[in-house]
Amino acid sequence: MNSIIANIRSIRERIASACARSGRDPREVRLLLATKTVTPENIKIALQTGQTLIGENKVQELKEKAASLMDIPHEKHFIGHLQTNKIRDVLKYDVACIESLDRLDLAEKLHQRLVFEQKTMNVLIQVNTSSEKSKFGISPENAVELTRQAAKLDRLRIRGLMTIGIFSAEAAKVRECFKLLKNIRQEIIRQNIPNVEMQELSMGMSGDLEIAIEEGATIIRVGTAIFGERIYPDSYYWNEQT
Ligand SMILES: *Cc1c(COP(=O)(O)O)cnc(C)c1O
Repeated sequence: MNSIIANIRSIRERIASACARSGRDPREVRLLLATKTVTPENIKIALQTGQTLIGENKVQELKEKAASLMDIPHEKHFIGHLQTNKIRDVLKYDVACIESLDRLDLAEKLHQRLVFEQKTMNVLIQVNTSSEKSKFGISPENAVELTRQAAKLDRLRIRGLMTIGIFSAEAAKVRECFKLLKNIRQEIIRQNIPNVEMQELSMGMSGDLEIAIEEGATIIRVGTAIFGERIYPDSYYWNEQT
């Protein structure tokens, strides 16, 4: 069997047992294929197993792969750092959700462009729950306020929160990040902000998806455990300069 197919099967098993352990229905947890650096051929192999959701980090890769993936139905999310000068481009590729809204300036410019194009966009607020400098995301202290401000921009449909947990071998530290995201969601729900829905918690990756599911993830984003190691370090995708 192709290794991608075998890997997806084993991820499905990991999802099922994490759900069983935490009393959740596996249908509440969507698997997003994190497809940065993955070729359209390999993405297709994964989609043909019945997966429906992919996530890209760079507008350039959305662009390069769009034509090859046209004939296979799927949903695309944008999960990378979005520079304001790429807003026009990201809107060309039929992205269903931008999971990485992390600052007001981006929210405002995205809103302006959506008004111009007479569109709306689902977004998640990305929170830097580990407070590591290398990671993007609004700080936990400012997440509610960003949500409140972005909610005034009526072309944005705020649907939940996203985070990248700390990279640590200590499960307790990773769990803290996910608990923090869940608590921020609870606070936002409590404040009952108009134009805000909080159904999605996008958290958990190849190494920590079980913990994320136990803490309530509704979307887990998995790359390496399905497609193998990437040749570029993640800093290439997570740094401002690139
Ligand atoms: C690459 C990436 C993932 C997937 O990470 P893996 O460890 O390869 O599973 C998830 N989320 C974001 C934002 C990413 O950039």
